[in-house]
Amino acid sequence: MDLGIAGKKALVCAASRGLGRGCAMSLAKNGVDVTITARTESALEATAKDIRDATGVNVTMVAGDITSESGRKAALDACPEMDILVNNAGGPPPGNFRDWTPDDWHAAVNANMITPIELIKAVVDDMISRKFGRIVNITSSSVKAPIAILGLSNGARAGLTGFVAGIARETVAHNVTINSILPGRFDTDRLRSGFAFQSQKTGRSEEDLANDAMAAIPAKRFGHPEEFGELCAFVCSQQASYITGQNFLIDGGAYPGTY
Ligand code: NAD
Repeated sequence: MDLGIAGKKALVCAASRGLGRGCAMSLAKNGVDVTITARTESALEATAKDIRDATGVNVTMVAGDITSESGRKAALDACPEMDILVNNAGGPPPGNFRDWTPDDWHAAVNANMITPIELIKAVVDDMISRKFGRIVNITSSSVKAPIAILGLSNGARAGLTGFVAGIARETVAHNVTINSILPGRFDTDRLRSGFAFQSQKTGRSEEDLANDAMAAIPAKRFGHPEEFGELCAFVCSQQASYITGQNFLIDGGAYPGTY
């Protein structure tokens, strides 16, 4: 399917690895020029080369912390007249809420709520004036089904989701949509680090924990970042202009509810 977005320009945050990288690659395969960010220059260079080699689009790299004001400014400066924004950042660490301080909460809310809101604020009016915009927030299945040890994530992402639900209804009249994609378990470094954390706590091997986790998913496997990217590209397509304010769960059937 031609998604009708060739020649558009996208900023994909936190995209040297994992789900952000999957989104950048899928957008690039559809002819979108991508600006990708991450904190480490060397990791970005490798990803940029892979995307260029696979697709031939223009890839711009911005090394910096997207959760900082300077990191966001550098990313925005590198991608003027942006058509597509994919909000992403590392997720907060797991733990027990009894151990978390206000600083831990502020860091989580800054990374997973305020950072995407600041980026939306910076670009949305320009998108509205140009009558095209697609904003996708990478959040988490925890928005629908909270995960106790990821309380920082549950809280911060619920805040972002509530905010987006309001403004997404204002922007759609101008062909600017704002949606979120909620990953279940995808095979990325982030997922593997969770098994390492649990392994330390329980003494069970990371492999055993991963096998148990896969067995509990109706699809009997973890998701691939590439399939996450394909959903992102569709949500950014011309065809998706009537879809806004939605939360798309992509989890191999793990969420057990009917709705
Ligand atoms: P990952 O660790 O595989 O990749 C994270 C990417 O973000 C890397 O490119 C890293 O360099 C970059 N990054 C991290 N912090 C950054 C920062 N402050 N500034 C710029 N770049 C930064 O993680 P992932 O699995 O792709 O997860 C992406 C998001 O999705 C995270 O917020 C995570 O919590 C969430 N999530 C992932 C899963 C999963 O199963 N993988 C499930 C639910 C939610």
